Parts: sequence; structure tokens; C-alpha cells
Amino acid sequence: MSMTDNDSSFDQNGKRLENAEATSRPIHAKQREAQPKGAIDRGNKPIDHAEAAKRFLAAPEHLKFHDERLWDLRQKRDKQMHGLPEWEELRSLASAIKEHTLTHLDTYLEQFEAAAIANGATVHWAKDGDEHNRIVLGILRDHNAKTLIKSKSMLTEECGMRHFLTDQGITITETDLGERIQQLDNEAPSHVVVPSVHKLRSDISDVFARTLGTEPGNDDPHYLAESQRMTTRPLILEADAGMTGGNFIIAETGTVVTCTNEGNADLSANTPKLHIVSVGIEKLLPRVEHLGVFIRLLSRSALGSPITQYTSHFRAPRRGAEMHIVLVDNGRSARLALPEFWTSLKCIRCGACMNTCPVYRRSGGLSYGFTYSGPIGLVIDPTFNKHKFSNLPFASTLNGSCTNVCPTKINLHEQIYAWRKVMADTHEVPFAKKTVMQAAGVVLGNPKLYRAAIATADKALFSLPRFALYSRMNAWGKGRENPATPGQNFHVWWAKNRAAKAATAKNGAVKS
Ligand code: SF4
Repeated sequence: MSMTDNDSSFDQNGKRLENAEATSRPIHAKQREAQPKGAIDRGNKPIDHAEAAKRFLAAPEHLKFHDERLWDLRQKRDKQMHGLPEWEELRSLASAIKEHTLTHLDTYLEQFEAAAIANGATVHWAKDGDEHNRIVLGILRDHNAKTLIKSKSMLTEECGMRHFLTDQGITITETDLGERIQQLDNEAPSHVVVPSVHKLRSDISDVFARTLGTEPGNDDPHYLAESQRMTTRPLILEADAGMTGGNFIIAETGTVVTCTNEGNADLSANTPKLHIVSVGIEKLLPRVEHLGVFIRLLSRSALGSPITQYTSHFRAPRRGAEMHIVLVDNGRSARLALPEFWTSLKCIRCGACMNTCPVYRRSGGLSYGFTYSGPIGLVIDPTFNKHKFSNLPFASTLNGSCTNVCPTKINLHEQIYAWRKVMADTHEVPFAKKTVMQAAGVVLGNPKLYRAAIATADKALFSLPRFALYSRMNAWGKGRENPATPGQNFHVWWAKNRAAKAATAKNGAVKS
């Protein structure tokens, strides 16, 4: 077979790529837009989502791709939903199963522990992220393990495990492609299902050229995927230990269930002799028969596909191997005690609320400054640090679309609104915003005042100088122009066209 300059079946050294899936051409983008960076972490100071979102909005190629890619997932999800007449019944069942489990969590956790031990696994309990990291390090040290391969796990991100273990001399390799890209770029995941969705393939090409030595400027997806596979597979085969998360854990059987599309959880669990599972205590389901409800909802909600390519059940260590399960609280039982927010523990991390959220799609997941972004992030991030994430509940239009798509029926937009009230009551809202909101409250609560203000505003918008309208006080006007005001508002139209008729009809009704 002859080799041409553009044949992506060959690497830059002319060596044939063994697993090339296609012969698509390398794409050398002429002009590259720099990837916008996420929120700036200023310690305990509030994350400025709006500031990071502004940077994302200023990168039109990234913005367009991100918005369209995620909206595509939302549309595919809708298609799957319409194909299942029992969709709403499944959502109600999922919600009921989760609520039952969460309100009997102690019983089911003990049942899970007993079953897992009976299966031959070792069970550990971690009250917070630090303890989780120390337990994992202890297990690795007990086995003299220096290299760890792991599949995608939001929980380990939440605990800051990768940085902790790296500092302790452990070499970690992510086996999920998106998560591996993020690891190589030393960046957090921006989405719970598609961690590098905020990156264009030109960004990935740059990361791989810098870290894996791929041909600079070649952003052909097959070439990049092949290069990543060829460099990562040896690390997987030689690893001392493997780690997975768990999408679900079953109390009845002590089983850990993972759902992936790349089979990377299976590689992580089955290749080395030591398998560590890191899982949040809210992932419990009472019995195996409940699993089907969630498996039918998860991938349909997440990616608009009927099922993930791999749904793997890990019940016991393989012969000659060990399985350790770390059950992590890290604020979950405290959240369970919050009357307005406990149902956020029903989340199965499908990402549907992110895909549908207009703010998320146009600001990117890294703008939220923590592991969880989008609507579910707005609800659970403040439970980790109310002050630091005090701005997040305001990054929503409260349109309720997140609630509508959530497979476990979490009332997300109501919880976001409830957080706003908490932030206002605990003085976490900036003075300027609070003052404006209080003034708006007075006007909106008084019909006469409201009509007078509207009439004045209509005229003022035409005559005020631009600097007065687009000032620091008008955050809305930072990214867009105020629309032209209509010639007349609804009240004026009603008074002219309908008020007389309505009065006549009312009088007629009274006489008869
Ligand atoms: S809150 Fe609901 S929609 Fe959002 S990730 Fe969790 S389960 Fe999915």
C-alpha cells in the first residue's frame, strides 16, 4: 500500500497506524482560536462565573461548537424519549426508588457492606475527600503500587485525588479519552459525561502535540485517537492498580455497576490485580430489579443513545486479585438533612440538565469553577462552600428546562431559586445587586408605580446617552444591545382596545 502525505493511516514517522479506523484527511486549520480558560480560582473568594462566561462568549468558534454540540445531544435525548411511551412512568419510578433509598440510606448501606464483604471485597468508609484520598494512598502503598489507571470519576475530581496522589509519587493515567485529554492539559473536566466538550479538535491537536509528540497542526480525529490509544495502552497493561467509579451500587448483591462507551472501566478494573472502587454513598439502589429503570434512562438522557456500549457488573475480586470499595460521604449526609436540597442526591450524573441549559451551553463548564457545573452544579456546589459558590445560583434563567429533562425528576430550577433566597438571607449577594433587586421589588410590587416606571423607561431608553444605559450597573447590557421598545405597552393597548368592551360585558353579566 502506498503512503501519501495526507494519509492519516500513518504517523509522522511514516509508521503505519495499526488500528486506524478510517482514511480521513488530516485537517490543518488555518487560523486557530485560543481555547478560553475557565473561572479563576481566588481561594475562598466567590467564583466569578460571569467573568469567565464573558471570556467564553468572546470565543465565537468555541461558543458555536459547544452550543450546537450540546443542543444536538438534547435533541437526540428528545428523540429517544418520544420513542418510549412509558418515559414519564420510568422517571416517576426512578424518582421514587431514589427517594426511598435515600430515606433508608443507613439500612441499605449496611446491607451493601455486608454483601460486598461476603463477596470477598474489602469495604472502606471515607467521611470526606481527604480521608478518601488517604485511604486510596494507603491501599496503593500496602500493595507497593506506583502506577494507577482509572476510569472517569467525578467523585475523585471532587476529592482532588489526582493532584494528591501525584504529589505522593503515584503516576495516574486516565483511561477515558475525554478525561485523558483533560489530564494531559492539566485542566478539570467541564461536563460530567463529555469532559472535554469545550475543546475544539484543534485544541486537542495542540495538547497532543505538546504532550504526546503528535504532528503539530494535524487535527484529524482518527489520527489523534489512534495516537492517544497507542501511547496509553502500554501504560494500562503495565499498571500496578486500577480504579473505577460506580454509576450504581446494589445493596442486595454488593455489586458495583459501571456504564461506559469506551470499555475503559473494564480495562481499569480487569487489567491490574488490584481494583479500587471509589463511589458516593448516594449511588445505592436496593435491588437488582431496580437497575433496569435507571439503565433505560441514563444513556438516553445523557447522549440520546438507547444504552451505553458497556454496562459492567463488578461483584467480587477476580481469582488472585483484590477489590477494595471506598464508600464516600464528603458532605452527602449533611445535604440529606437540608429540606430544600436533599433531593439533589437523586442525581445520576447524566448531564441532561447541562445540555439543555442556555447559560451552560453559552458559558462552558469551566466557568463554574468546580467539578459540577450547569444546573446541578448550581444546586450542589454551594453545599460544599456557600461563600465560594454564592454567585452560581444566579447563573440561570430559571426557565425550568433542566427540571423537565431530569430523569430522576429533581426540581432543579426551584432549588436554584431556593439557593438565591438563602444567599440573600445570609448576606452573600453583592451590595449593588441587592440594592437593585430591592428597588425592583418595590416597583414590581406596586401596580401604579410599575406603570409610571414603564412609561418613563420607554421614553428614557430613547433619550438617555449610551453611557448611562450600558454602565456597570447593567450587567445584562454587557453582552448585548437593549431591544427597541414597542410603540405602546400592553396596558396602553388594553385601555385603547379592550377596556370598554370588557366593562360592557361585565355590566351585562351583572344585569342578567
Ligand atoms: S440533575 Fe438530573 S439531569 Fe442533571 S445530571 Fe443529575 S440526573 Fe442528570
